[in-house]
Amino acid sequence: MSQHVGKCYCGRVKFYCDGDPFFTQYCHCNKCREVASRSRSDADKVGYGWTAGYLTSNFKITSGADNLEEIVKNNAKLLLCKACHGLIYGISLDKNKQAGIGINVNNFHFTDSMPESFKPVRHIWYVNRIVNFNDDLPKFKDAPKEQFGSGELWVVNEAENKLGLPFEYQQMPEYFDAHNISEQTEAKNRLIEELLKEQNVKTVLDMTCGTGSQVFYLAKRGYEVIGSDLAPLCLIKHEVKLKK
Ligand SMILES: [Zn+2]
Ligand SMILES: [Zn+2]
Repeated sequence: MSQHVGKCYCGRVKFYCDGDPFFTQYCHCNKCREVASRSRSDADKVGYGWTAGYLTSNFKITSGADNLEEIVKNNAKLLLCKACHGLIYGISLDKNKQAGIGINVNNFHFTDSMPESFKPVRHIWYVNRIVNFNDDLPKFKDAPKEQFGSGELWVVNEAENKLGLPFEYQQMPEYFDAHNISEQTEAKNRLIEELLKEQNVKTVLDMTCGTGSQVFYLAKRGYEVIGSDLAPLCLIKHEVKLKK
């Protein structure tokens, strides 16, 4: 039987798995996204998790167990390396669902190329994604039934996918604003204004205006501004702001 070994990014935590995984999958749930963003490893910091499903009994931490940090979230326990903050594995808190665990695929070390059994078979929690995928893998809104989800598939909106709009722009303009309005935005706006003055420009077309960080600033300062964007929800947000 094949055996696989792995270690976290900094190498403090090492593990061993008996046999091949049942499957591997990309998970876009909030837990995986948050945990991925904490890791020091670039391979982890991609906005989703890539986990291998194993029987809990086939997985063993071989060194560095005392270096594990535990995070409990939404009925799951996630074990991270304290030093590099990379996810090692996650397990359900529900005793009836603890037969299987999800192990971070990025930590496996393969002597040859990655075995077929590690190729991802699906996306789960695709509804929460921040990265769009154009692959042919099934994309579940939450999770398949055997993983205690609804089993419903996400219907990919081709137009949105082609535009490649980041998820925030499509569904969360509120969050987009929260990120965008900052000291840097103010500094950027002042710089833009300086450049416009230098060139004696009075009319501005902002072709990727988003929720209007520049449009509103410049309009207030007497410029004639037109904002345009491919993300319809940003523009709705824009209208709401205009009415204020
Ligand atoms: Zn580590
Ligand atoms: Zn997840």
